[in-house]
Amino acid sequence: MTNLASFLVDSAAAQGDRIAVRHDDSTLTYAELDDASARVAALLRDRGLRPGDRVALTMPNIPLFPVVYYGILRAGGVVVPMNPLLKAREVAFTLRDCGAQIALVFPLFADQVAKAAAETGTECLVTESLAFDDMLRAHAPLLGIVDRADDDPALILYTSGTTGTPKGAELSHRNLATNTATTAETLLQVGPDDVLFGGLPLFHAFGQTCALNTAVAAGATLTLLPRFEPQRALEIMARDGVTVFLGVPTMYAALLHAELAEGFDAGRLRLAVSGGAALPVEVLHGFERRFGVTVLEGYGLSETSPVAAFNHPDRPRKAGSIGLPIRGVEMRLVAEGGATVPPGEVGEIAIRGENVMTGYWNRPEATAEAIRDGWFHSGDLARADEDGFYFIVDRKKDLIIRGGYNVYPREVEEVLYEHPAVAEAAVVGVPHSVHGEEIAAVITVRPGAHATAEEIRDHVKDRVAAYKYPRIVTFTAELPKGPTGKILKREIVVTDR
Ligand code: AMP
Repeated sequence: MTNLASFLVDSAAAQGDRIAVRHDDSTLTYAELDDASARVAALLRDRGLRPGDRVALTMPNIPLFPVVYYGILRAGGVVVPMNPLLKAREVAFTLRDCGAQIALVFPLFADQVAKAAAETGTECLVTESLAFDDMLRAHAPLLGIVDRADDDPALILYTSGTTGTPKGAELSHRNLATNTATTAETLLQVGPDDVLFGGLPLFHAFGQTCALNTAVAAGATLTLLPRFEPQRALEIMARDGVTVFLGVPTMYAALLHAELAEGFDAGRLRLAVSGGAALPVEVLHGFERRFGVTVLEGYGLSETSPVAAFNHPDRPRKAGSIGLPIRGVEMRLVAEGGATVPPGEVGEIAIRGENVMTGYWNRPEATAEAIRDGWFHSGDLARADEDGFYFIVDRKKDLIIRGGYNVYPREVEEVLYEHPAVAEAAVVGVPHSVHGEEIAAVITVRPGAHATAEEIRDHVKDRVAAYKYPRIVTFTAELPKGPTGKILKREIVVTDR
């Protein structure tokens, strides 16, 4: 395996007529995806792209995303996916940081990207305009794919990592190909008859490896949803016979409370996969009951391609656990000084294996800080049980210290989700003159339900140690969320105190 794009070439050779991707009524078969991406590769090469050059990509979840993505890879380029919501200043930072030669952008987002590209001297190509179609037609497909060494970069994913400013996690062809193969073969066990739900943003590691690359490696179909909306997701699941649902916890919470259409049938659904943030146990059980399907939770980061741990389908799964390290990956829990913590104690997850990035692009210091003695330090705190299953306690930086006691927000959130009126909950620390930090819960209420702050506070107070329950409870219509739907704790403003 020398190029991640070989998954596509192999699936096209094996079953060119089957549908690779769909978005409502528009579909691409494997043969069409193969041909179109080979034309993109030819176009890029004619524009002077050399192997190893970086190509930024700004595109929603539409069939053109994989066309361009595999086109860049086939030409030997390095894909730098960008969140379409980035503003020109942020785009310029990314283009400059990775030294992108070319930026490919969907018309809807062209303004910001073109402005940034002009500033950084990057060539900007707007896709899906007539001119782009003509350009593609004018290029005969590039024959074959450009050979890359296993450790050459395939992808640079910008992430804030465990500290501060965005950095580019450099993932090699080997990193991504092995993580994809393991996900397809052992975790989701996907075959050509599967239909994967494509509602996770493809510019993010979870959607890219576990939905796009996994579907393509297995010759399955990926059905795309550009912007997650629970009613649309349910329609697509029923319409396309989705067999594997992939989502972040906020998607699960939304589907749990969404109204089901008369005669709704997701009968082909066989597996649901959650990752990207902690899935509250209450939501997991509720989803399993409502849709009659097992939910398996996994864990990973952009820096680890992303999957590092998973509840393996052939073993009993443990609700609330991220499962066991996957094939080819080792995990251990370390204390501040780097020693492994005794069994049952909380430590930082360290990861070693073929999924760990080669480093942060052009940042040797940040790389050395994150990868020590071959182990990548995740910034996530966890504990392991006697069977080796890992339980995330929280992120290191989300820990609240109230009056000298450690409070892990996740534990309090789990209890909040058990309250019948709670749809979503986030627990954060707010500065306090006496205790250092005070515990605050911000809640969204389920449609039609009602609760007072006192009721919510008492519900938690009855169930946890006295120093842990939220003294402040506030309600909001919506919690701030990142592009994948993760709740953004740092953007929560606690008003009404
Ligand atoms: P990203 O690089 O955007 O994929 O974010 C990675 C971070 O997501 C990790 O460091 C964790 O904090 C969080 N995360 C991913 N999966 C889980 C999970 N199953 N439970 C709790 N946190 C998770």
